[in-house]
Amino acid sequence: MSLFSRPTPEARGLGMTSQRARDRLIDRLKSNGIADRRVLDVMRRLPRHLFIEEALASRAYEDTALPIGQAQTISQPWVVARMTEALIEHKLPAKVLEVGTGSGYQAAVLAALVANVYTVERIEELLRNARRRFRKLGIENVRSRHDDGKLGWPEHAPFDAIMLTAAGEAIDPILFDQLALDGILVAPVGVPGAQRLLSYRYDGKGWVSQSLGDVSFVPLLGGLG
Ligand code: SAM
Repeated sequence: MSLFSRPTPEARGLGMTSQRARDRLIDRLKSNGIADRRVLDVMRRLPRHLFIEEALASRAYEDTALPIGQAQTISQPWVVARMTEALIEHKLPAKVLEVGTGSGYQAAVLAALVANVYTVERIEELLRNARRRFRKLGIENVRSRHDDGKLGWPEHAPFDAIMLTAAGEAIDPILFDQLALDGILVAPVGVPGAQRLLSYRYDGKGWVSQSLGDVSFVPLLGGLG
């Protein structure tokens, strides 16, 4: 069965040739602790090579971050898997906000799992490329916006889950204001060289964080690129 409700005829044939490379990547993710079958199944089927430039396509199924232009990266598959796993672990959110669309790969993974994805990117050219990929794959449940995602997307709040894919030194309280009380926020937090992946949930008194391990992300920047 297709990952998305309306794959274009073009999308149906995409990625078949790289299936073996994707299977190997999935084996590697499993041996590195990724256990959620829903996440593994989506990443086994989603053609990551379509989210990077052709010149780098042969490296698409290495477990590594890769450049996507504008000094930005598509995140390492293990990190995408771990963040997605953490986001859907307690309950499947219906409405998710991603800050940092980048290539669009993480948004596409989420789009195959949840009903509605909202994603914000500050660099217009990256967003244009990501939107082209969503169209090509027939992804219809992602809404995207060119803006400073530090401010979230208040018009569509509250979200059941929020994911940041760029690292700030702290989480702006404005994002917690846009999160449902039974929701979850997953984000890399810290300065370059000392970042941790944190998940936040409300314990009845405040937002409490849990560390999911050390990571290395590009910085969350203010304003538009
Ligand atoms: N999720 C992306 C993917 O799947 O390719 C990876 C994103 S990359 C590691 C981080 C992205 O966050 C970059 O594209 C960067 O431009 C974007 N970014 C950084 N600060 C931002 C902000 N304040 N608002 C929106 N996007 C931001």
